[in-house]
Amino acid sequence: MSHVLIIGAGGVGNVVAHKCAMVNAENQGVGTFAKITLASRTVSKCQTIAKDVFDATGVTIDTAQIDADDVSALSDLIQRVGADLVLNVALPYQDLHIMDACLATGTDYLDTANYEPLDVAKFEYHWQWAYRDRFKDAGIMGLLGSGFDPGVTNVYCAYAAKHLFDEIHEIDIVDCNGGDHGKAFATNFNPEINIREITSKGKYWQDGNWHETEPLSVHQTFDFPNIGQREMYLMYHEEMESLCENIKGLKRIRFWMTFGQEYLTHLRVLKNVGMTRIDPVIYQGRPIVPLQFLKAMLPEPGSLGENYQGLTCIGCVIKGVKNGRVIQKFIYNNCNHAACYREVKAQAVGYTTGVPAMIGAKLILDGTWRMDGVVNIEQLDPDPFMQGLNTYGLPWQVVDIDVDIK
Ligand code: NDP
Repeated sequence: MSHVLIIGAGGVGNVVAHKCAMVNAENQGVGTFAKITLASRTVSKCQTIAKDVFDATGVTIDTAQIDADDVSALSDLIQRVGADLVLNVALPYQDLHIMDACLATGTDYLDTANYEPLDVAKFEYHWQWAYRDRFKDAGIMGLLGSGFDPGVTNVYCAYAAKHLFDEIHEIDIVDCNGGDHGKAFATNFNPEINIREITSKGKYWQDGNWHETEPLSVHQTFDFPNIGQREMYLMYHEEMESLCENIKGLKRIRFWMTFGQEYLTHLRVLKNVGMTRIDPVIYQGRPIVPLQFLKAMLPEPGSLGENYQGLTCIGCVIKGVKNGRVIQKFIYNNCNHAACYREVKAQAVGYTTGVPAMIGAKLILDGTWRMDGVVNIEQLDPDPFMQGLNTYGLPWQVVDIDVDIK
């Protein structure tokens, strides 16, 4: 019998709650996810999700109100509900506080996005890697980045290193949302986190060094399976920081994401008028952060699902050597927005994040994955996770590819 405490009742939390409940229903209420608690800042959002989960699966999940930045209140909650693992799908700002509460209570930890300080748009692993020894000494596991990217993309690389290549030299992670939600401008996950990420400088790693580029200044066309040709832009993304350490022999790693012209025009205007600023400005005598105000004006990512059409395609183009020959493979998943909505009332970006979070938690809780300390997901055996992706809704393909990404 194991008990998961999910923190964060947003778009991703909704998917995680549904997927954990589906496993519970399959196991007739015993074993992994025998008990599920969903806690968040606004408890009414937890209750709405709990009702949807019950209607869809017949499984009852408990709910609780929590401010996850209050380490002592969170430690009390973890102890009161008897959680074996805390699955963090709140915001990156909460990561360190939730890790502190896990340390205080001796509870395993999992997240999907690395820590970011509120006042600097900078996401790096060093803050969380600093917990390695303390987690190890406490005999608990902290699994970092068990979403899609980071998450599945890291596992694709570990799988390629284990089964497809003798040496991996180049990785290009490509992320395309070829869907249409019918809104003039909206983000597919938390707008504040998303816009901070996109408006930051691009960065890639080559021959042991990081190289910076101006935001969205490097781009090219790529033909995404079942979607077609799309313009993709070089960006910084956190999984590169751990992959360049963990994939031995790697010479270069880059990350690319597609954006439509309409989206980029909106973003440029918002940036030019100051609406993407993260420092407070005084308005009518009160400090407000423009990006937080903009978030309040934009559609909730979780609400986009209903009319969303089309596919996402996220994967890794990997070049290296096998049996003395240079080869290139593309490992990817296509996910259908409308199918996700039918299954768990979510759009594909929430779905592709929530399903891997559930799989990572399941593998820890059922004892398949165990490594005390703070671990990036590519450090673990990729096979049970890859199998889980096929079982729980994110089937993957491996194809040969001869297109060179410039
Ligand atoms: P949302 O903004 O939809 O949801 C975040 C939830 O966290 C909200 O319910 C919010 O509460 C809650 N929350 C915020 N602060 C606190 C706090 N202090 N205490 C308790 N709860 C809090 O975000 P998403 O669901 O879109 O994203 C969730 C996470 O997933 C993010 O960290 C995001 O970066 C990550 N992500 C990872 C991806 C990957 O592939 N690896 C892809 C997409 C997202 P309230 O409702 O009150 O605001």
